[in-house]
Amino acid sequence: QKKAKPIDFNAVINEAYSLFKNEKGGKNADYIPFLDKVNSDMYGIVIVTKEGQVYQVGENKFEFGIESIEKVFTLCMAMEIYGDSVILDKIGANQTGLPFNSVPAIELDGKRPSNPLVNAGAMATTSLLTSHFGHAEAWDKVNAYFAKFAGRNLTVLDELYKSEAATNAHNQAIAMLLKSYGYMYDDPLYACDFYTKQCSYGVNTRDLGIMAGTLANGGVNPVTKERLIKEKYVPKVLAIMGTTGLYETTGEWMFKVGLPSKSGVGGGIISVVPGRYAIAVFSPPLDKAGNSVRAQMAIQYISDKLDANIYSDK
Ligand code: GLN
Repeated sequence: QKKAKPIDFNAVINEAYSLFKNEKGGKNADYIPFLDKVNSDMYGIVIVTKEGQVYQVGENKFEFGIESIEKVFTLCMAMEIYGDSVILDKIGANQTGLPFNSVPAIELDGKRPSNPLVNAGAMATTSLLTSHFGHAEAWDKVNAYFAKFAGRNLTVLDELYKSEAATNAHNQAIAMLLKSYGYMYDDPLYACDFYTKQCSYGVNTRDLGIMAGTLANGGVNPVTKERLIKEKYVPKVLAIMGTTGLYETTGEWMFKVGLPSKSGVGGGIISVVPGRYAIAVFSPPLDKAGNSVRAQMAIQYISDKLDANIYSDK
């Protein structure tokens, strides 16, 4: 158990901001045309504590695509509905060691979707939600749940959704493949489209901070104080983030930083310091695995400065 020490969050995020502001590494996702056009210079850092204090520096108004970070909250919702056993029974919880949209990954793990934080597993998890609620109600239910995490209604960025839906043949193929193996729980192309829409939610850095802050606070939104996921499920969500949140580079990430995290190709990364606070960073240029370069640098810096590594009791 880490000792609670007084922390000057403002000083640390300001340092991290100025240290990496001029970083030029990485490039925007270009396989989704809309993401390629987003201004690469944008950079924002937010910390949300368990008590609900919000610290921020840089860009925190611009709404970017949540992309794969949505997978975390879809996972939360599936556990709330079905219990945690559904993940081991119907999805899987192992790292693939392969890119987030890998087809061979599905073939490796006993022809399973592998885990809820890669595209295959996320679409399978989404199909659990849509089949549970039915097509008429599913979007409203999921939308309401996501809104509770952010503490405000989130809207789909229409241009992003159209751009992604027009170019997601690869994800459609993955969804069909899963169907053929019996790991899709609703119509595969419907689930793929629903997932694409979820990935197209617009969020700002602050929204992500509050959403992640809910996981840092044992499942209770630290700002609205509403419980969104049972406390006993939070460590399981964090375990999956810690195993696969940054895809095939998660092992190196945990070695360097030691924080359960999740990235999205829109440029966001969330990291959770359990029972203490969450860090959200946004900056569009990505490394080869699809993780924001500046966000990784900023979070590593903050984690080192604040002794946040979950494997250390400093
Ligand atoms: N919507 C994106 C996709 O399915 C999400 C990928 C990501 O953020 N890694 O390809």
